[in-house]
Parts: sequence; structure tokens; C-alpha cells
Amino acid sequence: MLRTALTRLTAVMALSTIATASMAAEVNVYSSRHYDTDDALYAKFTEETGITVNRIEGKADELIARLNAEGANSPADVLITVDAGRMSRALEADVIAPYSPDLINRAVPAHLRHPDNLWFGVSQRARIIFYAKDRVDTPPSTYAELADPAYKGQICIRSSSNVYNQSLLASIIEAEGEEAAKEWAAGVVANMARAPQGGDTDQLRGVVSGECDIAVANHYYFLRGFDKDVEGLTAGIDNLGWVWPNQSDRGAHLNLTAVALVKSSPNTAEAQKLLEFMVGDFAQHHFANQNNEYPAVPGVGLDKDTARLGFFIPDSTTPTASFAANAAKAQAIFNEVNWP
Ligand code: FE
Repeated sequence: MLRTALTRLTAVMALSTIATASMAAEVNVYSSRHYDTDDALYAKFTEETGITVNRIEGKADELIARLNAEGANSPADVLITVDAGRMSRALEADVIAPYSPDLINRAVPAHLRHPDNLWFGVSQRARIIFYAKDRVDTPPSTYAELADPAYKGQICIRSSSNVYNQSLLASIIEAEGEEAAKEWAAGVVANMARAPQGGDTDQLRGVVSGECDIAVANHYYFLRGFDKDVEGLTAGIDNLGWVWPNQSDRGAHLNLTAVALVKSSPNTAEAQKLLEFMVGDFAQHHFANQNNEYPAVPGVGLDKDTARLGFFIPDSTTPTASFAANAAKAQAIFNEVNWP
């Protein structure tokens, strides 16, 4: 009798613990993605799991500094950055813990995640070459050719403080070595049409206005010019051609929106569920459709605008983890060659 009563009591306690936990179930996300459309992503997760998502948005460096300052008391469970390179700072700050890899690593190819499961990519963004069709007969076909003196005075590319450029250079360091990377950076500086200014859209605008003939930008800034009327871009967009670089060797440079589990996470189980949700069908389609990104999970269909850029070979031999690992070297090279 006593044994039965105890068993029942334990069962009731266990149930009430679960009930309390699920009522209060939440996951806290520090994110440097700033798209309102991501609301739909988190709403779907809550609908499926009952777990509330609380989001704090900010620049990656600010979020990492905040994690660092909060230490073990941080309420954060998940960190999201829009560039794998930024994850290097989170790793340096020692605020990341490994996620449970079973489901995630089956979905995400090895080159799009950290070798020790410290972060993984959920969507991919290509950094490619654009050019004025009416002024450039033979655009550069590789990143290396951006440094060819034949393109002197023609190239618009943003500043070296931009993390997309830092990751591009980090990938060149990985693929071709530091010396070649330095020569490349110096060559690009020599070919600049103007001192770097503005964001990626401004580089494309530079081609439209005629200030430069060739620009380097992430692919979705170009596609946004079809989605909506982007001032200085949409009206002249038909004259912009694009090049998928390095198609006969390592492939085009792609960066990632990367997600990680925070070391001090107070809601690890909920956080893990959110990480797994992000490699699922709904989330993968969401990333592809709302910002014209390329899904990290192979086989997920593309948005029609994204498909407009056609087939390409991505660089899947240079690990994205090297963008973070080589971030400091890349910054040193940019400083050495005086890339503003
Ligand atoms: Fe961007």
C-alpha cells in the first residue's frame, strides 16, 4: 500500500514539475539578425512547442560583450550572428557551449559548422562580383582577378571594418596562404574606384551611378532591388551583371547566419529545441524566402528571386570555421595594406 502511494505521489510530483516547467517554458535569444519577418519564425516555434521566445537584438559585438559582462548570470540561451567570423569573438570570450549534434549535424553539411559543434549555419549568403554590363566586357571571374591591374580605378568595395570583407579575406588566407592574401588585398586597394563608403547596397549603387564599374556585395542586396524599389539601384538594375567567382576552382565564397548555444544557458533543453527547429523545413524555407538567402540544409527549395541568380558552385572546401579562426590575421593584413 505504502509503496503504491509513494509511487503515485512521485508520479504526481513529476507531472506537476513538468506542468510548471512547460507553463514557464521559454528561451532567450540574443540575435544580430534584425528582420521583422523573423517574428513569424519564432511564432511558429512557440506554436509547435509551447516555448516562448524572448529576443534581444543588437550588433554581434555588443551582444557578445553583454554575454561576457553577464557571465554565469546571463539569461541568454541562444546567440545568433549574421557572419561566422563574428563567432570567433564569442569563442574567444568563452561564452559558447557545444550543442547536441545528433539531429543538427545530420541536416547541416560539415563545412557549414564548427568542428566541435560550437555553432552551425542556418542560412548562406554569397559574396560575389557585380559589374556594369555596358562598360565591362570581361568582368573578373575570380576573387584573385579583383586585384588584377587591368581593373585599376574600377572597383567599389566597402571598408575593412566590415565583417563580410573580413571573412572573405579570411577565406583567401585559408585557401591561398597569408602572403597571397596580402598581395590580393593590396591589389584590390590599388584598383579601388573610390575610398570605401557605405554598405553593400552603396557599392551596387556605385555601379548604377557610374562611379565604379565593378562591385563586391552580398547577393541578397542585389535581389532586394527586384523585391522592392531600392533607391539608386532598382532603376538601373537591368544593367548589372553578376559573376559567380572561382567556378573552375574552389567555388564562390558564402558566409552564414550562425547560431550557438550559450554556455550559461538557463534553459538548455528549450534552446536545443530551438536550434533543431532552425534546421527543420519551416525555418529553412523561412530563411530562403524572407531574405533571399540560401538554405544551409541541402535540398530545400529556393525563393524565386534567389533562383534568378542561377546555378553555382559554392566553396565547400574552405571550412567556414576558418573565417573565425583567421579573423585576426585578416584584420592585420587589412591594416598593413591600408585598406580603409
Ligand atoms: Fe547583410
